[in-house]
Amino acid sequence: PLVTVCGGTGCRVYGSEKVWEAFKAELARQGMDATLAYDVKVTGCHGFCERGPLVVIRPQGIFYSHVRVEDVPEIVSETLQAGRVIERLLYVDPLTGQKITHEDEVPFYKHQKRLILEKNGNLDPARIDEYIAAGGYSALVKALTTLTPEEVIAAVRSAGLRGRGGAGFTTGVKWALCRANVLKTGAGYIVCNADEGDPGAYMDRSVMEGNPHSVIEGMLIGAYAMGIHQGFVYIRAEYPLAVKNLRQAIHQAEDLGLLGRNILGSGFDFNLSVRLGAGAFVCGEETALMASIEGRIGEPRPRPPYPAEEGLWGKPTNINNVKTWAAVPIILRQGADWYASIGTEKSKGTLIFSVVGKINNTGLVEVPMGITLRELIFDIGGGIPRGKAFKAAQIGGPSGGCLPAEHLNVRMDYESLTSLGAIVGSGGLVVADEDTCMVDFARYFMTFTQQESCGKCVPCRIGTKAMLETLTKICNGQGEPADLDYLAELAAHIQRSSLCALGQTAPNPVLSTLRYFRDEYEAHIYEKR
Ligand code: SF4
Repeated sequence: PLVTVCGGTGCRVYGSEKVWEAFKAELARQGMDATLAYDVKVTGCHGFCERGPLVVIRPQGIFYSHVRVEDVPEIVSETLQAGRVIERLLYVDPLTGQKITHEDEVPFYKHQKRLILEKNGNLDPARIDEYIAAGGYSALVKALTTLTPEEVIAAVRSAGLRGRGGAGFTTGVKWALCRANVLKTGAGYIVCNADEGDPGAYMDRSVMEGNPHSVIEGMLIGAYAMGIHQGFVYIRAEYPLAVKNLRQAIHQAEDLGLLGRNILGSGFDFNLSVRLGAGAFVCGEETALMASIEGRIGEPRPRPPYPAEEGLWGKPTNINNVKTWAAVPIILRQGADWYASIGTEKSKGTLIFSVVGKINNTGLVEVPMGITLRELIFDIGGGIPRGKAFKAAQIGGPSGGCLPAEHLNVRMDYESLTSLGAIVGSGGLVVADEDTCMVDFARYFMTFTQQESCGKCVPCRIGTKAMLETLTKICNGQGEPADLDYLAELAAHIQRSSLCALGQTAPNPVLSTLRYFRDEYEAHIYEKR
């Protein structure tokens, strides 16, 4: 049997490193480490972070949650040696009260479709040989040996992959534009945008921590397709484990000739390095990100020119999100048609949501595009704690919108969410229950964007402050009837005249809560509560 202990940041916070050490010590104490029959390893994040530390006994897939160091001797003697399941460590379904033994039967996992996160719970991210043994880098070999750059771009395009960083632009089209400009200018760059900063969202961190080679392989394939020889991963410094694992993975790939000169004898050269961000949310905006990589203040600039025309150091630059890059090897390995068969007509593949807030099962959830919000909240999320009613979900982070219970049947794809005032965005999903004050909820997100406004342009710098002050006034019972029109008018100005997406989308949580929960704003104002 193999004992996998989750080594994601969430489980580490709960003490998973000590659990892993306890397993090693116990196996040694009982002389079980001398045979190849028993092994223990630390893997990437399993996604079900609130239940950590998570331990899975393979190949049976026995799933134990909230495992403590004191539980380890019993797991070794009872489960590994005697083959008996320890009931008290099993997951209990909050809806049925039923105890569940196997990982793939836990509702949180059962209804997911894990592509990008698939290997996170199985691989030791510190070992490139495990990634290769699981089929890793075979997509790169396929691209370099059997496909032209144009054929790679055509495959990514026909798979229907769209950028997972928020905008949802078709990746193959973006690559083709960048390639055309690279051919004209003779140089260019690619960037992995790993500056994840939305409140409650941490899927990019988990992919980089748990499966860093998938990102590197995706970038290598993209670089080959666009004819680019230098890439950067721009990652926030607050993600130390992701930075460590990514740097280690880059060194491993260099040692094996997968990065650097004449990769695998193909004649293609590509170098990749890591750049650390200092935690400014606005540096996730691509022009600010490029300024930061160049060593300038991370502030946005007007577009055009777009990065594909004039990016880093004035050269064509392609920027994609962590999940977008990680999806590329899957497409080449499994085929564009296979990938395009997942999801809806216009939104292909899977989405990863970071589900947090007033919900039983919080964590990272990867689902096919087109699943309903209801399935996500109840089948996977296990519903609302203490039998409370679902009130709303803020979808797409602070730039997204809030959808009420009447839209529980909305399909989670780019088009359906946008039509209702929310967005896929970064995949952040914060759930509110019947006790949540929606004005306060909107104020929370406005506080965040106001603090993160870089201050370069007036509408965002002053406008978000004015909106926040008005929301605070309303929450404190000092609102006036005219405040609601004022909020709506201000929001329209900020959306229209802000320089970058941070300002343009900052009013979204207020507008969507005004649209669906106006009665709560009015109650604060007229009932002075
Ligand atoms: Fe800075 Fe906000 Fe203007 Fe963007 S919209 S440039 S974050 S002030």
